[in-house]
Amino acid sequence: MGRLLAIEDLVVEYPTLSGPVLAVDGVSLDVEEGEWVSIVGESGSGKSTLATAIIGLVPPPGRVRRGRILFEGVNILTLNSRELKRIRGRRIGMIFQDPLTSLDPLRRVGDQIAEAILEHGLASSKREALRMAGEALERVGIPRDRVDYYPHQLSGGQRQRVAIASAIALEPRLLIADEPTTALDVIVQANIMRLLNKLRRDLGMSILFITHDIALAVENSDRIAVMYAGKLVEYSPTEDLVEDPLHPYTKGLLESAPDLWGPKRLYSIPGQPPDMRKPPRGCRFHPRCPLAVEECSRVEPGTFRFDRRIVSCILYREGGEQWSQS
Ligand code: SF4
Repeated sequence: MGRLLAIEDLVVEYPTLSGPVLAVDGVSLDVEEGEWVSIVGESGSGKSTLATAIIGLVPPPGRVRRGRILFEGVNILTLNSRELKRIRGRRIGMIFQDPLTSLDPLRRVGDQIAEAILEHGLASSKREALRMAGEALERVGIPRDRVDYYPHQLSGGQRQRVAIASAIALEPRLLIADEPTTALDVIVQANIMRLLNKLRRDLGMSILFITHDIALAVENSDRIAVMYAGKLVEYSPTEDLVEDPLHPYTKGLLESAPDLWGPKRLYSIPGQPPDMRKPPRGCRFHPRCPLAVEECSRVEPGTFRFDRRIVSCILYREGGEQWSQS
């Protein structure tokens, strides 16, 4: 497998009256071709901001302050809006929690998918683009005659399938899925996850899956990146992360996931995520960490690499390779 995406030392900031808030602070991670990587974290951890930065859509007044986002070897941050538009949809598809974010409620779903196909020059006529839109719908389990439906004529699960059809119609190399199943009931959620897995296999694409649900990430991912308060705190192959979580926050997340252990072992991480306008000094997790020592409140922990695993915690500075996130 080759490397498809490499994020290097990315910093995304939002200006506020009390100074800039670093929603993403020095994050580095990579995604290989055909790989499923999940980014897990509580709300406000920066995971969705990271996703929007990859497609060049950080909502203003937010901006990328520093770093590189290499997609197929090209730094996305150096592209102009026309070049970015060419990559979005064609090479990188995106689906959101609310399918209506990407679907226009006033237009037939087939027309919306066909428009993207025509825009990227993959069909020579509207008729051909509509035929391809029908094929994309069939690929996600929706009969092709639904090209004439409006979004409101479909159920929530079907709308999410249409949004997925729209995102994969151009057969992108990377699909970014930002909490795509959060608004759906458990059965529909399981169906959508099965569909994403099938599409990944059929199209050979990579998936970057953003979620607050670590159980969902464990069930589906090759690797899991855990974010806390704008920082990447652990990045590990899923099996290693489940068998031997390194970061205390990862341990807490795993132990508080009822879907993994059943309700008996349920644990709740004490405290709340920090106010990002004034994050704690030192390790940002220290006010909630059961293993914190005095030093944790004074100095940043540093990031350490052990083979294919990366962790940001002082407990690992012995024996690990100091890993610069730049
Ligand atoms: Fe806990 Fe300290 Fe490690 Fe942070 S650096 S996770 S506070 S032990």
